[in-house]
Amino acid sequence: MSGLGKGVTTSSIAKLLQLSDQKVSCIKIDPYLNYDAGTMNPVAHGEVFVTEDGGECDMDIGNYERFLNQNISKNHNITTAQVYSAVIDAERKGEYLGACVQIIPHITDEIKNRIRKVAEDEKLDFLIVECGGTVGDIESLPFLEALRQMKVEEGPQGVIFVHVTLAPSLDVVGEQKTKPTQHSVQELRRIGIQADFLAVRCTMPLEEKTKQKIAMFTNVTPRDVLSCHDAKSIFEVPQILYDQGILDSIFTKFGKVGLVNASANWDKWNKIAHDMVNSDHDKIKIAMVGKYVTLADSYVSVNHALKHAGAKIGKSIDIDWIDSESITDYNQLGNYDGILVPGGFGTRGSEGIIQTANYAREKNIPYLGICFGFQLAAIAFGRNVMNLGDANSTEIDAKTKNPIVDLLPEQKDVSDMGGSLRLGANEVIIKSNSIAEKIYQTNKINKRHRHRYEINKNYISEFEKNGLLFTADSDNGKRMEMLEIPSHKFYLGVQFHPEFNSRPGFPEESFSAFIKASAEK
Ligand code: GLN
Repeated sequence: MSGLGKGVTTSSIAKLLQLSDQKVSCIKIDPYLNYDAGTMNPVAHGEVFVTEDGGECDMDIGNYERFLNQNISKNHNITTAQVYSAVIDAERKGEYLGACVQIIPHITDEIKNRIRKVAEDEKLDFLIVECGGTVGDIESLPFLEALRQMKVEEGPQGVIFVHVTLAPSLDVVGEQKTKPTQHSVQELRRIGIQADFLAVRCTMPLEEKTKQKIAMFTNVTPRDVLSCHDAKSIFEVPQILYDQGILDSIFTKFGKVGLVNASANWDKWNKIAHDMVNSDHDKIKIAMVGKYVTLADSYVSVNHALKHAGAKIGKSIDIDWIDSESITDYNQLGNYDGILVPGGFGTRGSEGIIQTANYAREKNIPYLGICFGFQLAAIAFGRNVMNLGDANSTEIDAKTKNPIVDLLPEQKDVSDMGGSLRLGANEVIIKSNSIAEKIYQTNKINKRHRHRYEINKNYISEFEKNGLLFTADSDNGKRMEMLEIPSHKFYLGVQFHPEFNSRPGFPEESFSAFIKASAEK
């Protein structure tokens, strides 16, 4: 079922293989009918993760990037819509002339082709394919069927299956129950897939007798029934799996005995994992103010980025999520070391964010505004410092007389909502002698974007006269990318999404600067 930890299991296995000097990557299959995650509500589905090449992907892609410290492109997130539209397009072009086009073989072939293409194009040693959903769901059936066929085609040493299951502990009887695992393994066998490994999610380590029992019922050897018990941090999971011998077992199953490599990578990773888990001492309190705060996963990359930055200086980060729609007493924000406003869309909750940005400026509290948080910080400044009382974004008030944030002409005629934002990595040019330059130590950065609206250039000189500077831009000065207030302790806004570039051990620079400023008493 969802939320069980398939993404972390996938990333952890990938990490172990990478640490053994294997070239590895991951694919996420999402069996829903949306073409991509771009139009889905982050409160229901979690964050939309943006890739370098402008994919609006499932947030598991972010997990892969962070665990593997490598960029993943959008063709690693396969959805039902992508597969069906490719097959239907081909049918209309006449590519199957004469044939009756069917789920098997046409849809399953398209799925297999997409998987194989990634492995071949990237010359991978291992590709881990994570299939979302629950065994028995109607919508994931064509994908599981395609994966079953792959094992037949590639041979027993070409494909292995890891099934992530649940062993709940019932308080009343105090024992780990194996029935849900037994049933889902049977359901999987019914469609022709025999698991090679079971990654069993449980609160406490799986007891030996539970392992034995699961093994007996599932045709999996006890040593391949893996305990995936709760950990203090997801970064402990690779070690938990390694300690149970998963790597030896994987290499044996693929006929590559003796590949496990004690390379220098392990020390580096252990240090990073250790720092991520053990930075408990000094807490920095951060208020994250936005409208999608009811689900921690809505801003999962921002949360991670804050923690990467904290771990680097040995501090742990305490994040409070504050709903910008219901906030009434802004003085509560005075209790925090720093205030962060992440990306967002639409009118709801925007006034609360504008007031938050203003509060941080007036009280000299470190502020980091990302995308919407950058745009609304400019509006807060326009209203309160430049005396433009009705300053706004045309996204929020189409009729404002002071559209400080507005659409560029090329976005005005866009009618499709899917895939029509400015997406993916673009070059950003930073002005010399700016705080931005100090943060990035360069004048040229490459950052991921996901937005439609822009700072209106007609207001820039007025901003600068009043002490707010735009110190980075893109597309030959067409779009503003960063703002800063030099007289403030730390006040930074970025049009791009720095959170998508942050990795454990390698925090993104603007997060590092924000956390450092927040740590200063
Ligand atoms: N809603 C704003 C825009 O479309 C900001 C988008 C965001 O924060 N990702 O430009």
